[in-house]
Amino acid sequence: FPTVTVLGVPFIKATNAQFLNQLYQDLKQHKNRFVVTANPEIVMYARDHHDYLNTVLTADYITPDGIGIIQGAKILKQPLPERVTGYDTMLALFKFANAHHLKVYLLGAKPEVIHAVLHKLTVEYPHLEIVGAHDGYFKDDSDILNTIHAKQPDLVFVATGFPKQEEWIARNRYLSDSVWMGVGGSFDVFAG
Ligand code: UDP
Repeated sequence: FPTVTVLGVPFIKATNAQFLNQLYQDLKQHKNRFVVTANPEIVMYARDHHDYLNTVLTADYITPDGIGIIQGAKILKQPLPERVTGYDTMLALFKFANAHHLKVYLLGAKPEVIHAVLHKLTVEYPHLEIVGAHDGYFKDDSDILNTIHAKQPDLVFVATGFPKQEEWIARNRYLSDSVWMGVGGSFDVFAG
């Protein structure tokens, strides 16, 4: 995709439909991909934390997750078509994973939240294969990493909030040719 840079962050110029189609292709081809859905807080934080900016810049796709980014691009006279949020992307990927019996690993949120997420997934997306899950309050991630390495999930969702989730993905994504995505507070929203 072409990109539009807002405050040092290059956002993909794509609609939700175009972006999702690309991800579906990537999943079919078992590509190793890192997705950042960057909201204005992430952009502002990256401005002040260059290590984090460099981590975000290793992503394959950075999407505009907030109306502030869309407005910024418009002011720069390089408009972006629409918001592409972490939550909507996650839901679309759950649906695709269900339709294609894909393997999913889920990391993040409080234990009761991840339990609720797992329950809701088994009810609403029964063909999605959950190969592992862990809450986001771990000290040692070796079991998590061993599982991801052994199971080679198609999708890895990490909901530990920024900047942690992006740093963790950037450090570990070599373990599996998956679509890796930081989803912030999306597990809490999905659990309801
Ligand atoms: N979280 C976590 N581990 C931590 C800190 C936070 O799993 O050490 C979870 C938290 O329970 C919540 C999510 O990360 O589910 C963070 O959500 P928030 O809305 O604060 O993050 P953002 O969307 O702003 O990145």
